Amino acid sequence: MTTQTHCSIGTPGQPWGSAEKAIWLSQQTRKRSYETDVLGAIDRLRDRFDVVEYGRLEYGPETFALFAIRSRDWNDALPTALVTGGVHGYETSGVHGALRFVDRHLADYAGRVNVLVAPCVSPWAYERIHRWNALAIDPNRSFREHSPAPESAALMRLVAPLRERVLVHVDLHETTDSDESEFRPALAARDGKAFEPGSIPDGFYLVDDSEHPQPEFQQAIIAAVAKVTHIAPADAKGEIIGSRVTSPGVIEYALKKLGLCAGITNAAYKTTTEVYPDSPRATPEQCNAAQVASVCAALAYVLAPR
Ligand SMILES: [Zn+2]
Repeated sequence: MTTQTHCSIGTPGQPWGSAEKAIWLSQQTRKRSYETDVLGAIDRLRDRFDVVEYGRLEYGPETFALFAIRSRDWNDALPTALVTGGVHGYETSGVHGALRFVDRHLADYAGRVNVLVAPCVSPWAYERIHRWNALAIDPNRSFREHSPAPESAALMRLVAPLRERVLVHVDLHETTDSDESEFRPALAARDGKAFEPGSIPDGFYLVDDSEHPQPEFQQAIIAAVAKVTHIAPADAKGEIIGSRVTSPGVIEYALKKLGLCAGITNAAYKTTTEVYPDSPRATPEQCNAAQVASVCAALAYVLAPR
């Protein structure tokens, strides 16, 4: 599906040092504006929702203020839902899906659940359309104590008081062709490892928590998204990107052990969405709609009486 490539920075077999990381950084260019696309959209939500600045990233001369949006009628007696987008800045529909959910749906949950939305966790990478932050670190392997990624550390500080109170967390991602053509080769080069080609699944899938799987919850989301875009089939080995498919469109990772965003709370219900924007069968509009459908289905499931 994608052509094998390699990353030309550094010496094969040797992990990058600061010189190689500096070369990599010098090759990254700003391609779009966090201020225009994200902060502009957040400003338009301020009359209806509470907006909190939860941190600032300083990269050279650049500063990025980090924002989260909260239900205006926050009530500690209600359950809490967490939605995160743009942990990988290049995964566009995660950011715009989160913002669209707030704009079109968040008000519907007033009085039923508190919702906290961090729509663009990694804004430097949003602008560069990259997976890593400016330190060549993947924030989504860095949700751990003493995190080396300031994006991850800031989100963990925001969420820490709610860790035991969050009932459901939906972390919005994409799996793209550039994962295989650009980001996995760069990862192998950075770590001094050989690049082993894989394949990118065509369609939407979810990642559950292998330590606390919730298959019924995941299937409720899959059923809702299937009305918007196609679900990734398992490959010939019964896998999606190298992990066993546990139910249609669902794989599992050990979220906390891997330092993944979806593991930052002790929520009973956690999922990571993986939208596939490079499919000939999916438009950007469908990708945003699939993210919104995921969040709405997750909330509907946890709020349903049972
Ligand atoms: Zn991602």
